[in-house]
Amino acid sequence: MDKEYVGFATLPNQLHRKSVKKGFDFTLMVAGESGLGKSTLIDSLFLTDLYKDRSLLDAQARVPRTLAIERRAVELEEGGVRVKLTVVDTPGFGDAVDNADCWVPIVDYIDQQFEQFFRDESGLNRKNITDGRVHCCLYFVSPFGHGLRPLDVAFLQAVQHKVNIVPVIGRADALTPREVGAMKEKIREQLEANAISIYQFPDCDSDEDEEFKAQDAELKRSIPFAVVGSNDIVRETKEKAFRGRAYPWGAVEVENPVHCDFLKLRTMLVRTHMQDLKEVTQELHYENYRAQCIQSLTRVGAPRPAPAA
Ligand code: GDP
Repeated sequence: MDKEYVGFATLPNQLHRKSVKKGFDFTLMVAGESGLGKSTLIDSLFLTDLYKDRSLLDAQARVPRTLAIERRAVELEEGGVRVKLTVVDTPGFGDAVDNADCWVPIVDYIDQQFEQFFRDESGLNRKNITDGRVHCCLYFVSPFGHGLRPLDVAFLQAVQHKVNIVPVIGRADALTPREVGAMKEKIREQLEANAISIYQFPDCDSDEDEEFKAQDAELKRSIPFAVVGSNDIVRETKEKAFRGRAYPWGAVEVENPVHCDFLKLRTMLVRTHMQDLKEVTQELHYENYRAQCIQSLTRVGAPRPAPAA
């Protein structure tokens, strides 16, 4: 594996020594309509071939297919840090004729992980808990529509207080730079109008150097990330080969920041914000869940009000 590429070398800076030794669990969920390039992007991000066994189902097999959540694990290591990455895929999202409640299994999955962690944490073997909680949800928005569809809004509203949402525009090579800009603006407006809270990038410390601050501001401005994925290497000349998509009129370079936000997304996920995504999951989303659990437990245990005379 190309070490420069994945860039886990900087992880020790984010981590406490203990967790470096123990390894690092991280769970990334991908959701959105099928065909928006979710699996391709995941493979491109982590240089894996997590989906090599996937075969397209024939029409008959597709019809009764309900939403099946799949979990794939990959172990990555760099600079002495082991990252146990779990990718939770939600194939077929929004494929059915009636999509009214299609996100329910996803919400249930997130809750189940919280529940498992809550049980483990309250149990006897607290030291060896495997953290299956979803730390980040990459939500794919179609480049072919006009921003968020009602289904996107409904899904995001259902999960916003349970998981860190990072919205991305999939297959962004379908859009010109101007269209990308307009679509990003539209999505940001829609998120605000529908009061959807997505992952908030932490403010950077005032003592950071100017270059870092500029990078940080640029990262925040780029939301939702417009991404292109590919598992093909395009060889343009003898010297120049890159991961990209070749068209008769030219090639898109996945890792060229002028072409798309792939690098920004990858840097954010594996270099700069992995630890923060975990902390926000623990301190905000899991704490919400835990508080609700404890509240409902105390409600069950509370004396019943006396019947009215
Ligand atoms: P998923 O169903 O969301 O997991 O989508 P896939 O990753 O299976 O991709 C669906 C199709 O879109 C495949 O034919 C991919 O080759 C293609 N694809 C994936 N990413 C991109 C992209 O960034 N741009 C374009 N134009 N096509 C893509």
